[in-house]
Amino acid sequence: MDSTTMPSTHSILNKLKQDFPNLTFQPADDFWWSAANKTVYIDSLADNSQILTLHELSHALLNHTNYERDVELLQLERDAWEYARTVLSNKYDIPIDNETIQNHLDTYRHWIYARSSCPQCSTNGVQKKERIYTCISCNHNWRVNEARVCALRRYAQ
Ligand SMILES: [Zn+2]
Ligand SMILES: [Zn+2]
Repeated sequence: MDSTTMPSTHSILNKLKQDFPNLTFQPADDFWWSAANKTVYIDSLADNSQILTLHELSHALLNHTNYERDVELLQLERDAWEYARTVLSNKYDIPIDNETIQNHLDTYRHWIYARSSCPQCSTNGVQKKERIYTCISCNHNWRVNEARVCALRRYAQ
């Protein structure tokens, strides 16, 4: 997409601030949504900045707060993209192509696959608790890092 033909993230932000006075939109070096602070963090210099802004706003409008298992995170991501694509895309006249959505979801799928593979035998494990997986083949348990919604791209790039 040719960025010179796109309206700037700045003009979109002004609209969003008017439309959602209960939310705070704050510049950051990454995209994420903080339910605790009711703040959407936006990296206006990123590729697809407008699209990702609508994605984070979707998390906010869908009241996404927390999740316990990685597969739940993937579902939150799917739901946020669906809302951005079907509702916000038209409202703010920002096209969201399916490739961008699938690339984003693939990042999460790869991340979950890597986390859920047993370090001892590579069998796919089961997430027993928030941060603990168990191997169904060799019974090995392993811990995984905490993940923040939408903060995964920085590790994947
Ligand atoms: Zn194993
Ligand atoms: Zn997200």
